[in-house]
Amino acid sequence: MRIEIEYKETDLRCHECTSHVCDKNGYPVIKREGRSWRVYQYIYWRKTGQKPPVVMHTCDNRRCINPDHLVAGTIKENVKDMMDKGRHVALKGENHGRARLTQDDVDLIRAWISLKYTYKSIGKAFGVSLYAIYEIKSGRRWKTADAMTTLADALISMDEEETQ
Ligand SMILES: [Zn+2]
Repeated sequence: MRIEIEYKETDLRCHECTSHVCDKNGYPVIKREGRSWRVYQYIYWRKTGQKPPVVMHTCDNRRCINPDHLVAGTIKENVKDMMDKGRHVALKGENHGRARLTQDDVDLIRAWISLKYTYKSIGKAFGVSLYAIYEIKSGRRWKTADAMTTLADALISMDEEETQ
């Protein structure tokens, strides 16, 4: 059954989706065109006709679907954004630069694969090996051992630049 998209506007002019349930990461999801979307990605596509590899919230509100709060980003910007927000904090300290991909990361990697980004550029953005990208592409189960991969130098230096 098709559920219309509804939202309520907040004081910050966010359009918080009220009609669709959120995935476990807190993003409302919707079924359209024979597939599942995060509602904000669907909205962005309907507004612009584009499916960039990354759509980011300028308001950092995951429930927000206000097109004015959505911008296309690059892989690098998205990774930097995640780091700024502390999602990759666990990569430092006792993990010695070894990263475990989150389900969110795996979802993004799949999206970029489908958008024909090279495995090399994806691997570099996430700091994982080509092998890891192949594993994700092949849909094999993402085991913890496989997910323990070395962070790319680029990301480590980017991170250090910001914290020092
Ligand atoms: Zn917003």
